[in-house]
This record gives sequence, structure tokens and C-alpha cells, in this order.
Amino acid sequence: MSVLARFGLTRRINAAGTLTRLGGRPMAPEVASAMAEAAGLSLDIASLQQVASDRIAATLGSEAAMVTTGAAAALTLAAAACLAGDDFARMAALPFADAFPNEILLPRTHRTMYSHALAAAGARLVDLGHNDRGTGAGVRGLEPWEIDAAITPRTAAFAFTATPETIASLPAIAAHCRARGLPVIVDAAAQLPPRENLRRLVAMGADLVCFSGGKAIGGPQASGILAGRADLVGSALAQQLDMDIRAEAWTPPPLLRPIIKGAAPPHGIGRGFKAGKEEIIGLLVALERFASADEAAETAALEARLRAIAARLDGLNSVRATLSHSGRAPVLVVALEPPTRAASAVAALLSQDPPVHVGERRVAEGVLLVDPQSLQPEDDTTLAAAIRAACASG
Ligand SMILES: *Cc1c(COP(=O)(O)O)cnc(C)c1O
Repeated sequence: MSVLARFGLTRRINAAGTLTRLGGRPMAPEVASAMAEAAGLSLDIASLQQVASDRIAATLGSEAAMVTTGAAAALTLAAAACLAGDDFARMAALPFADAFPNEILLPRTHRTMYSHALAAAGARLVDLGHNDRGTGAGVRGLEPWEIDAAITPRTAAFAFTATPETIASLPAIAAHCRARGLPVIVDAAAQLPPRENLRRLVAMGADLVCFSGGKAIGGPQASGILAGRADLVGSALAQQLDMDIRAEAWTPPPLLRPIIKGAAPPHGIGRGFKAGKEEIIGLLVALERFASADEAAETAALEARLRAIAARLDGLNSVRATLSHSGRAPVLVVALEPPTRAASAVAALLSQDPPVHVGERRVAEGVLLVDPQSLQPEDDTTLAAAIRAACASG
């Protein structure tokens, strides 16, 4: 009996992308079977994370890495590492961090709803600069003097949100922060594809980078990557792993050795974000597949599917479907006239059986986005018919 029938669940047709709230990108059978195999084993999790570190670091070009339970968890662990370092007392104190440097600088233009994940470790976020470009008020962005003016003895890190628009500014900011001893944490959760971003952010000087494992990588939904400097990843790992251990009888893996020298810290702020053996192994298998895939061929296949969907929308009154790239996975941009029709089309799609989800980021402009990354090929024709019906009725 299927889990859908067993638990009375409704499946969704997902043309909205790799959204976490819709379960991320569906996993390949090879990843699912590796997870199932892991599920039946007893393994030493610290040693498993060391293997993960070696494998992921080789793929990303970083010193070290660990598997987290998502990019948001990676952000909290990154902040915890920057706040506590190798200091057990600080690890034990988090999220109460008033007694030591706990401020994280964050440009206003980089603040997202995920920034809360940094604050969750006990960090105080300090807003920097203005948003002249975003508001259309002007041409200037964050300037080095604004970073310097915000640095105090309480400053612990700098946070950067990577997007196709911000990424070019990372090398200069990272160099500036490095010269001032300030680690840079980069949220790159959804910056894949392009696959080259796996290595690019580390190469640009990020001290810590966070990726989602459940989005384009196609790993377990509750997985992510924290990669970067070995001392910081080691601190993050020490604050995530279960520490109910007799340290004198334990040989920690190399990543933890600088921190655990005959004594272990208590359970850290990340103890509630434990990555299971299934997530760690699933992520490793998924990353191997993602890193070695033929990106050009995959993109061409997705484009061909989107063109076929666009052809099925031909002839609809005041609806125009065009293919768009914009440096990421291809999407179909479906523009409706007048723009107010888009919101009712979304509602009509969600009321179908099964419900159909499209990208809603540009609904206010009258645009529906069809993102094929999580769309099962066998649903393509149903999706096109559903969009036709929703647009025709609106
Ligand atoms: C999705 C996302 C996250 C959170 O990723 P999870 O793996 O779901 O925890 C964080 N930041 C950004 C920018 C995201 O898009």
C-alpha cells in the first residue's frame, strides 16, 4: 500500500522549484536506496562526519565540511562556531552570549527571513548600509568604510547572502573582512545550479558556506552542507554531535582533535539539529551524482520539456510563455494580461486535483513561473492542461 493511501495524503504537482515546504527536489532512487541501507546499520557518527568532511571538502575545495540538517541549520551552526570557537564555556553558554563578542554584521540588502537562523545561536545582527539599489533610489551599494564603522570589540562575523546579483561583490568583501580578522558566513542555500558555485564561493574567500542538500543537490530533504575553515567547521561539529561520551576513552576524528583534547564540551546549541546516518550518507551519494552530472545535457532536457509545455499554452488569450535562464536552472515565464489574472490563476491551480504549484515570486507583476526542477516528467501534460484551464477561467 502506498504511503499516500496509508496516511490519506494528497500528492502535489510541483512546478514551483525545489521549495522546502513542498519537500525539496524528489530524490533519485540511488540516493533513497543508499539511505535505506544506512538505516539498517550502526555507525560511529563522528567518524562518518569525518568521511563526509573529506569527501565534501574535496568537491568544494574547502578545508573541511560537515553535513547539517539543512542550510538554515548550517547558518545557526556557523554563527555558533564564530561565537564560541574552541571555548567550551562559550559553547555551554549559547544562546546567551552577552559575555563575549556576539555581533554579526549583515548588509540590509542581504537580510532574509533565514537571517533568524544566525540569531538563533545567540548572535545579535547588526544592519549595515542602505538599500538604494533595491529601492531604485540610487546607484551606490555597501562601501568598505561602512563595514569598518560597524566593527567593535563585540563583532564576531560578517554574514553574506549569495545571489546571482550579489556574488560578484564577495571577493572584495571577503578580503576586507579577512584583513580585519572577521570570518565571512555565506548563505548559498539555493545557489545551485550552476554547479560551478559548489567551488566558487570558497574560492572567492568565504570562511564558511551553507548549502541546502534538499534543493538542487537532490539529497535528503532535511540535509545541508556547512563547508569552510577547518577550525570553524570543527567547532560547529563539536556543537552539533552528541557529546554523551567518556572523552578519555575516545579518539576523536581529525576534524575534532584541536577542540577535544582529553575533554569534551557539553551538548551544544546544535544538538537539536543532529544529522542522522541516513541524511549524511544520502547527502554524500546525492552530492556525488550532482557534481558529476552533465549539466549542459540536463539543462537542455529541462528546456525541451519547458518548450513542449509552452507549445501546449499556444493560442491562449493574453497569455505569453517565454523561456528564461537568468544564470540559474531554466524556467518558463508565463505572463498574463491584465496582471491581476495571475493571482486567480494560482488559486485555480491550487484547487485542482492533484493541486498544482507554480512559482509565485512574480505574481504581483502578472507572472507565473514554471520551474521544472522538481516536476516529474509524467506530469508535464497534466501541468500544461491545468495552466490552460486556470488561465482560460481567469
Ligand atoms: C532554502 C533556503 C534556506 C534554508 O534551507 P533549508 O535547507 O531548507 O534549511 C536558507 N537560505 C536561503 C537563501 C534559502 O533559499
